[in-house]
Amino acid sequence: MASHLAQIFGTEQDRVNCSFYYKIGACRHGDRCSRKHIKPPFSQTILLPNVYHNPAHDPGCKYTEKELQEGFDAVYEDLYCELAKFGHLMELHVCDNVGDHLIGNVYARYEWEAEAQAAVDNLNNRWYAGRPLYAELSPVTDFREACCRQNENGECNRGGFCNFMHLRLASKDLVRQLRHGQRLERKLNPPKEMAGGGWEPPKRERNGQERSASPRRGTDDAWRRG
Ligand SMILES: [Zn+2]
Ligand SMILES: [Zn+2]
Repeated sequence: MASHLAQIFGTEQDRVNCSFYYKIGACRHGDRCSRKHIKPPFSQTILLPNVYHNPAHDPGCKYTEKELQEGFDAVYEDLYCELAKFGHLMELHVCDNVGDHLIGNVYARYEWEAEAQAAVDNLNNRWYAGRPLYAELSPVTDFREACCRQNENGECNRGGFCNFMHLRLASKDLVRQLRHGQRLERKLNPPKEMAGGGWEPPKRERNGQERSASPRRGTDDAWRRG
């Protein structure tokens, strides 16, 4: 019985736990869901809901595709550099969905749970682009499972209201540069090994020499109270 429950945990056959919350970290029923949303006490993944506002969703949007991509790349770089300060960033994903529970969601997965916890603790006291951030540990482990396959093939007829992730993708070159920057930075300033093999995320000063994953392009202001 116990092993059966373990097998179906978080799947559609699980009558107790919500498969959407478990797989995607967000469910359209929110707190009113009839199934349980169990927040993980530890996780490598964090969720920052409703951070990215895609100007293309505004009815009067006059930006070209190229301008929209450049604008998104700037946001992605900004998020990547900031989130890489808390540890080894393995994945960073931004949702382009428009439903209330997924709109503008940002998910980051770290190598270690302690890094994700440090990011959550810090970001809950921060602002981005003039709005307060909210951060939580997320149960999402596999983004392949969380993403809408039909959308990836250009065939999702639910569009932005889909309940699986539709990701906004940063330019491939940018992602490559950011990963390379992080690798280099970690080589130059390796995280300190602690006795017993564990290590703590670095303590950073509030002002001055904050470490960054790659050179910044003058977007610091976005992280101050607007
Ligand atoms: Zn639910
Ligand atoms: Zn979809």
